[in-house]
Parts: sequence; structure tokens; C-alpha cells
Amino acid sequence: MRQPLGRHLLLCPDSSVPDLLYELNARDEISSVNEEWLPFALANGGEPLDPVQIMGRLVWDFISDVETQHIYRLLHRRVRAGGAPVRLCFRCDAPARRRLLDLEISAGPERRLIYRVRTLREQERQPVALLEPYPPRSEHFVTICAWCERVAVPAHGWLEIEAAIAALPALAEARPPQLTHGVCEVCAEALHGALSEEPVRAVLGHL
Ligand SMILES: [Zn+2]
Repeated sequence: MRQPLGRHLLLCPDSSVPDLLYELNARDEISSVNEEWLPFALANGGEPLDPVQIMGRLVWDFISDVETQHIYRLLHRRVRAGGAPVRLCFRCDAPARRRLLDLEISAGPERRLIYRVRTLREQERQPVALLEPYPPRSEHFVTICAWCERVAVPAHGWLEIEAAIAALPALAEARPPQLTHGVCEVCAEALHGALSEEPVRAVLGHL
């Protein structure tokens, strides 16, 4: 399956994201989603998804990047052990929209986890082919931070997408490089710091 839900169990559509709520059971299977989910999923133009197709599936099926999965597993353990919610603020851009999301993961009864997602800020921009979900791609690869959406550009470090395109015009070609996800040093440090404190609140990316 292509990754219809993206790397954070979230679509990042070019339309506004409603407040989303979903719940995982003790085995990390998706056990409920709120009614905003269906129009949200179908509006994306990706593979059609409805609650029936994701209900009962492991959340890990929808978080393709291993490093990102690892961080979510640490967060799950933390919430289930301590009971205090964790909050993450991260970028979830669409081709024509910069977006900053707030995610709260809190504990429910019977080791359930409740995910709550809100949009904090959005800005429109000229569409960026690099973020199109299914464009033709070249054989090259570029790494994007799964949390702040900055791009690793050789000899420049991690740059905002627009700055990365200015430094490396190949990123804006009709067949842009394929994306691999990673964690930049700034986000890695922020996550590490947040995970060693109570309550956990990590700001990963700005807008
Ligand atoms: Zn980052």
C-alpha cells in the first residue's frame, strides 16, 4: 500500500484540516475515529479511505518511517506509564499550504490512547511539487525532517523547503527527487529533551 495516511497517521491535504480525534486500543490498533475523518480522507485525492478500512488496523501500518515510529512508541509508553498527556507541535505541509499542527496523546481507560489533532496555523503558498503525494519522481533521493519539514541540502544543512529549492533547483523540477524521512538535529534534540521531562511538550518546527 502507498502511504495514504502519511507519516504521522495524518493526511496533509491542501484544504483545511478539521479537528481530528482517534483512539487506539491497548494493542495500538485504531479503534475509533471521529466523524470528521471521512470527508477529510476523501478530500485529499489520495486513496479512498473510510473508517471501515482503517478500523482494527495497527497504527504502525500507517507510519512508514522507522525513526518516526520509534518516537511514537516512546510516547505511547510514556503516556501509558505516567498517565500525563504528551503534546507535540509539528509541521504537516501540503504542496500549497504550510501548516503547523498540535497533537495531544492522552491516556484513556484500559490502556487506550486518544489522539487529538488541531491546526495551529496555516499559510498558503505557490504549490511545491516536492510535496505532491504521487508525482513522477527522479531516481534521486532527498531527506526531509518528518517533524519540521526542513530539507537536508548538501553543504547547506537543513533548510525550509523554499530555501532548499533556491539552493538546489533540482528539487523544483517536474520530476523532483524521492523523499525519505529523517529527523534533523534540532528536532532530535527537542524530542530527546521533551521525553526526559514532565510534562512532555515538544515544539518541532515553526510557522
Ligand atoms: Zn526537524
